[in-house]
Amino acid sequence: MSATTTIRHRRSISEKLEQLTPVAISSTIKRLYRYSELPEWQQDNDKIITGYIRETKSVKECVKSLFLFHNESINIYSHLVPTITYLVLLVGLADMFLVPQFPNSTMMQSVMIHFFLLGSVLCLGCSSFFHCLKQHSESHCHIWSKVDYMGIIIMITCSIISLLYYGFHDHIFHFKCFTVFTVILGTICTVFALHDKFNSKTFRPFRAMFYVTFGLSGIVPIVTGFWKFGAYEAIRRVQLKYVLLEAMFYIAGAVIYGFRFPEVLAPGKFDFVGHSHQIFHIMVVLGSICHFRAILGSYVFMHTGMHHSSFVFIR
Ligand SMILES: [Zn+2]
Repeated sequence: MSATTTIRHRRSISEKLEQLTPVAISSTIKRLYRYSELPEWQQDNDKIITGYIRETKSVKECVKSLFLFHNESINIYSHLVPTITYLVLLVGLADMFLVPQFPNSTMMQSVMIHFFLLGSVLCLGCSSFFHCLKQHSESHCHIWSKVDYMGIIIMITCSIISLLYYGFHDHIFHFKCFTVFTVILGTICTVFALHDKFNSKTFRPFRAMFYVTFGLSGIVPIVTGFWKFGAYEAIRRVQLKYVLLEAMFYIAGAVIYGFRFPEVLAPGKFDFVGHSHQIFHIMVVLGSICHFRAILGSYVFMHTGMHHSSFVFIR
């Protein structure tokens, strides 16, 4: 190659680079960034040091990041896979394999199982979208974080109402009163979650406790059930052991999220696998499985007065 050709070649490369936006250049040259290289709005957890996707300004780039292993990958897939699973159950698989059919079962009785599944699909789906699209830009991150918070509120509301229905199926007045109470609490939570301050770094522990408190409001109807039906029946009506297991997962997840454990002990060691947000996600999924099991058991108890110990019902 002659000297003139080399100069012309270099000039054409630099012209092509000039045509690229800064974001396109960065994504061409380098795909993962350190915490210190992020714009301020993206800096949320300083205990996670590497593996970041920097502001993309492009939905396409965000979607492409699904095929790259970065520090949000497990956050995305830990909720995307259960979203698809619950969706498949919602559109028919639950009725085919998990929900026993009773001849005297009413439409409302089976709808409540789907109501819970719908809440779970919305919550986990919104969370997956948030974690995938949050790196677009500050404004997108802001909007999607609120969608994420709303998803959690919807899931808690659907979870409580669905179990309330089976627990108080023969006391509809109580069911209605507690449903109104839950919807009012959910509305108050929504007002807080949509406030700009709610998403700030300093609100992290508050956010965690906020959802736990809303979830724990389900104690009120359970205590009422104990008073009304006696301990033996109340425990079976709501399948209390699964509800307690669910509460344990949610509380543990919220505490881990709030205290940024374990990355706070060893910053940089859990960037890709094992950081607090990932553990929180997995705890949410485990909690939702426990709730699903509680609802199925409660539904069967409502029809038969029998306590089922197996997860998959033989039809
Ligand atoms: Zn999340």
